[in-house]
Amino acid sequence: MFSTSDRRTWLKEASATLLAATLPIVAYAQDPPPNDCPDCGGLGFLPLKNRRPYFHVEGQAAPKAADAVPHRFCPKCRADRNHQELVDKQTERFKTALDAHKKWEKETNFQLTRVETRHIVVHAQMPLAECVKIGQGFENLAAHLQNLTGSMELTCTRPESYEQICLLGPEAYEHFRTVMEKLYTADERGPMWSIGRGLSAFDHTLIAFFQESLQTLKVRPPVHGVCFMGGRKQLSVATNYRAPRWLSEGFAEYSEFAALKMNLWRTIYNQNQGPKPGDWVSQVRQLAVANQLRPWVEQTGRQLEDWDVRDYLQSFGMVAFLLQSEPKKFLVYTRKLKAGVEAEKALEDAYEKSIGKLDTECVRWLAGGGK
Ligand SMILES: [Zn+2]
Repeated sequence: MFSTSDRRTWLKEASATLLAATLPIVAYAQDPPPNDCPDCGGLGFLPLKNRRPYFHVEGQAAPKAADAVPHRFCPKCRADRNHQELVDKQTERFKTALDAHKKWEKETNFQLTRVETRHIVVHAQMPLAECVKIGQGFENLAAHLQNLTGSMELTCTRPESYEQICLLGPEAYEHFRTVMEKLYTADERGPMWSIGRGLSAFDHTLIAFFQESLQTLKVRPPVHGVCFMGGRKQLSVATNYRAPRWLSEGFAEYSEFAALKMNLWRTIYNQNQGPKPGDWVSQVRQLAVANQLRPWVEQTGRQLEDWDVRDYLQSFGMVAFLLQSEPKKFLVYTRKLKAGVEAEKALEDAYEKSIGKLDTECVRWLAGGGK
């Protein structure tokens, strides 16, 4: 297993997250239940028209219920429903919205600042300025995914059911682990639990948590971790946790980029170096121009213990290409994965192209700077 000195080496790099081995325990119930409507992907909801940014940081003036509504009813399959229902639902939610936050403050004995958007709550042991960035960043991500796809399918989480904990420093992180050990059984925490000790982030299915210290947050604001793990969660929900690992990692990277225009995070699978933090768009473009990307058939089968610089960059590039060049087909792809279709078949069927053809087009797209 990983030695302490190795861990320290990794932590010098710009990123450290760990995947949970546990399966999702919480099912994300759609409300109303999914149907077969093609317009909304069966959710019954579409993105808001004239969508305005919304996030709330504890201490700011109380939010208005109407501003917190995440979506509108799909006019095709929910034409009978009234928007006021959605406002009322937020009014109801607000009544108990602070309960979970108080629980985490009590369990940790930390003073935490609560940040909510339409899709997440973060309990942050961070200066106010960082909390504002967290709200703004995740809001950016949700707006981007909804505007790009015209769908709510990649932003299905809600603040009442999706939380992250953002801690200040390694000691707080270790303390939070003891809280988790008190609250959850070893089975619930899963077999990866012990490996997370000494790292700085754990994308756990029970609750994602991570730390930045006063030093690291100067170069890596915590909003990066929130968008990376929170973005990955969106894909996990959309596919019912059936996304292949390259897609899952690439989507997390893409989410961080979409929100913040910079890549500082990656999931650590081994001791290999990751890409240079910062501008991954240029780095993957250079690989495409130099024809140094791996064939997709090879890339999609790469083992995580072999992952290196190129794997992270290429996954990022593949997701950017699939999502930006044909966003509607990306949704079809996620629906097929969710339905249990084998990953390569789901990809080829959704895009109506062979994996080889997608590969060629992706190289051209990346080399051309995303055109
Ligand atoms: Zn519909």
